[in-house]
Amino acid sequence: MQLKKGIDKMQLIQGTGKLHEECGVFGIYNNDSHDVARLTYYSLYALQHRGQESAGIAVNNGNTILYHKDMGLVPEVFNEVVINYLKGDIAIGHVRYSTTGESFRENAQPMVIKCRGGQIALAHNGNLVNAAEIRNRLEEEGAIFQSTNDSEVILNLISRYWISSSTIEEAIQKMMKDVRGSYSLVLLMPGVLIGVRDPFGIRPLCIGKLDNSYIIASESCALDVIGAEFIRDVEPGEIVLIDKNGLKSVKTGNGGKTSLCIFEFIYFARPDSTIDGASVHISRYEAGRLLAREHPVDADLVIAAPDSGVTAAMGFSAESGIPYGQGLLKNRYVGRTFIQPDQGQREIGVMLKFNPMKSVIRGKRLVMIDDSIVRSTTSRRIIQMLKNAGAKEVHMRVSSPPVKYPCYFGVDIPSRKQLVASAYSVEEIREMIGADSLGYLSLEGLLKTPLGAKCGFCSACFDGKYPMEIPADAGKFSCG
Ligand code: AMP
Repeated sequence: MQLKKGIDKMQLIQGTGKLHEECGVFGIYNNDSHDVARLTYYSLYALQHRGQESAGIAVNNGNTILYHKDMGLVPEVFNEVVINYLKGDIAIGHVRYSTTGESFRENAQPMVIKCRGGQIALAHNGNLVNAAEIRNRLEEEGAIFQSTNDSEVILNLISRYWISSSTIEEAIQKMMKDVRGSYSLVLLMPGVLIGVRDPFGIRPLCIGKLDNSYIIASESCALDVIGAEFIRDVEPGEIVLIDKNGLKSVKTGNGGKTSLCIFEFIYFARPDSTIDGASVHISRYEAGRLLAREHPVDADLVIAAPDSGVTAAMGFSAESGIPYGQGLLKNRYVGRTFIQPDQGQREIGVMLKFNPMKSVIRGKRLVMIDDSIVRSTTSRRIIQMLKNAGAKEVHMRVSSPPVKYPCYFGVDIPSRKQLVASAYSVEEIREMIGADSLGYLSLEGLLKTPLGAKCGFCSACFDGKYPMEIPADAGKFSCG
């Protein structure tokens, strides 16, 4: 096959396939006798899928914010001594995987600052597209930045506007007028917990309650783990303030257009979460059912790329009547830390991670379901493995459309150069990954799958229609 449109086929094939998750945020205002740091720790565990690079918790203790953050997974960053140190009445937490910001300790969150208005801690999920422009302006005025992430730009703006505002919500509203992009925020100040969702509602954020205590979290699964009740989603453009008087909502107006990231339903969010009225599990199941209708195939067994393709595979099986089986076993202990210095080791890495169940697949015509093809590395390797293990045919079905455009809002969908579908046709991709046939879910079908959703969606990674203008230097600073 010819190289074309500047895409390096070897780059696609040899890409590590290492794609990064984004961030998860959590906050709790205690009105009972809960150990807020411990509850935050448990909930961050439930949000770990949203970021595995660093974790942190900040608490309000009297009028002082205590915090601990470091590189690593939640259980690596915290232990009993640290949790016991973090005593307080309000807590916020964060898990992070950078999208474009470098991965070092200074970028771990929550970020904690002291300003004229007092101390503030911030945890951010999302990505500002005009962070570079604002940062340049602030630096010209003498501002100092300690990290390379855009969340510090948000804090800087809030602290400046707070000087000339009568309330913190007024300062936040002024900040919201300056920044563009995606942001679901939790902020902690002595006596107050604040949640903010950007006007487009690109990243999820919800409100829960545990006894009399309020919670704000990226996903509802973080409420379930501590036995809290889901109250509602934070609305796009809404600021929620929780203090001793209860919950106050400030609606800043969003112009009516909402753009929740459709990739939350495809890949990011946990299937047991509900976002803006739609169950992630049902959405993935529905995607599998529609895929079976759009791209039927004569086969013996439906299997999934674990774990990302499992729910859609179950839907495909139900709709097609082809039985579902476990064709690949995933070793859960091979994680993000596996070092892959060269191609040979990477191949071993995939074999360590996935192993075909020979007794299940030998001699069979398989339908292999995954939620997405980005660079195509994963599907190519899995199909090769299945064929080596004796599969007669492998028909690849993907429960989302071809990913053709990069994401500027916090999902690590790389530049167009690395996106296989931005340069190759479906037939060419089929040939590259060695599948007997290949079918993607249509965008029209996909957008129907979050059943009951009360919002619009951003599907720019598929159609290039971004909900806002993207400056040339977007993504230079990023929280993830
Ligand atoms: P690729 O090998 O580059 O085609 O990546 C596709 C695989 O990565 C699929 O199994 C997806 O479930 C998974 N995936 C898709 N998007 C992401 C992402 N942003 N971060 C991590 N994994 C992803």
